[in-house]
Amino acid sequence: MNILEVKNLSKVYGKGETAVTALDNISFSVKKGEFVCIIGPSGSGKSTLLHLLGGVDRPSSGKVFIDETDIYNLNETQLAIFRRRQIGLIYQFYNLIPILTVEENITLPMLLDEHEVDGSQFNKIVESLGLKDRLSHLPNQLSGGQQQRVSIGRALITNPAIILADEPTGNLDSKNSAEIMELLKMFNKIYNQTLIVITHDERIALQADRIISIKDGKIAKDEVIRP
Ligand code: ADP
Ligand code: ADP
Repeated sequence: MNILEVKNLSKVYGKGETAVTALDNISFSVKKGEFVCIIGPSGSGKSTLLHLLGGVDRPSSGKVFIDETDIYNLNETQLAIFRRRQIGLIYQFYNLIPILTVEENITLPMLLDEHEVDGSQFNKIVESLGLKDRLSHLPNQLSGGQQQRVSIGRALITNPAIILADEPTGNLDSKNSAEIMELLKMFNKIYNQTLIVITHDERIALQADRIISIKDGKIAKDEVIRP
């Protein structure tokens, strides 16, 4: 089953002579449980693609289906709810809320939609992430690697259709970087959590099952490296 389908997706910024085609008619699909890296040089369209897969911008043309929902056919309110439940976003700089504790940061996506937090799901996640004795800490009391683990917890708590990670190790040293990749791969393999990582780092990309290379807004290569 395809958990993600991207169909003829294009994004043009600006108009007329100054228009920039950031994404040019891209199509691909991702199966449930796949771990895909999207790699490309600066300016190739990675951020634009990430924003469109994450439901935070609108395409110039084309469609994005996540778990069979045509996400840009939703109105703003529906899209905001869909995004919080079905798309787990992980950023390079964590984007945690500084005045909320670790526990509050992780459970926030549930509380925003007035959903009850499933205690056993929460425990399973914080134990896997090694955050059990950090739950009442604030983000600035944690190391970068710990903060990124909190943001992974926040991404997983809603049991989303896909996890989208934007340079998740870009701000970490090599030891923490390896640890974060191991955690993401563990959730991918053990819980069949679909994982899409955007990176310009070949060493990260080589850990995926499949690498999609983008160049000048087009797919230059799409190769399965671990069938
Ligand atoms: P990457 O993330 O791979 O560096 P981007 O998606 O940020 O690539 O950019 C792709 C192209 O689109 C670049 O030429 C960039 O300058 C342009 N671009 C990105 N965002 C905007 C924007 N908001 N307005 C105008 N041009 C943009
Ligand atoms: P990345 O570090 O992922 O390559 P960029 O530096 O390309 O990101 O872009 C950072 C932000 O600036 C993005 O939100 C992108 O949409 C925006 N942006 C990139 N290029 C331009 C541009 N030429 N004009 C306006 N905004 C841009």
